Amino acid sequence: MTMDALRDLYQDVILDHGRNPRNFRRPDDATCFARGHNPLCGDRLTVFLTLDGDGRIEDAAFEGEGCAISVASASLMTEIVRGRTAEEARELFHAFQDMCTGAGPAPADADTETLERLEVLSGVRAYPARVKCATLSWHTLNAAVSGEEQASTE
Ligand code: ZN
Repeated sequence: MTMDALRDLYQDVILDHGRNPRNFRRPDDATCFARGHNPLCGDRLTVFLTLDGDGRIEDAAFEGEGCAISVASASLMTEIVRGRTAEEARELFHAFQDMCTGAGPAPADADTETLERLEVLSGVRAYPARVKCATLSWHTLNAAVSGEEQASTE
């Protein structure tokens, strides 16, 4: 994808998911959750996960208030992690974080299709202050699967 195409797609995804977030709700049967805070921007999100007996994510949802980027990223995340194990979600979190900070290419064994969806949001690279907005929901998910109830981007 060219940089221009990626930037257009980035804006489309932020607008779409930011205005109509998917899985914006509090599930009754959540098995773990965490609250995330990005003090830099003021985003506050709570991520709810329902894990099955094998540690696979059956349901992922979120609530809270934040800027369009943090909400869009959380929305996309809840779609992407569904059906994956907590460990797979953690690997995606690290791959996404590397993408957003320009730390390096995704590992060769990575799930290309999923990374392409995430790559759209890595457009935040151009706006360093927004990287924490884009990664807040992932920090929060990581805290939830690690048994912590609070996550902060700081
Ligand atoms: Zn934000």
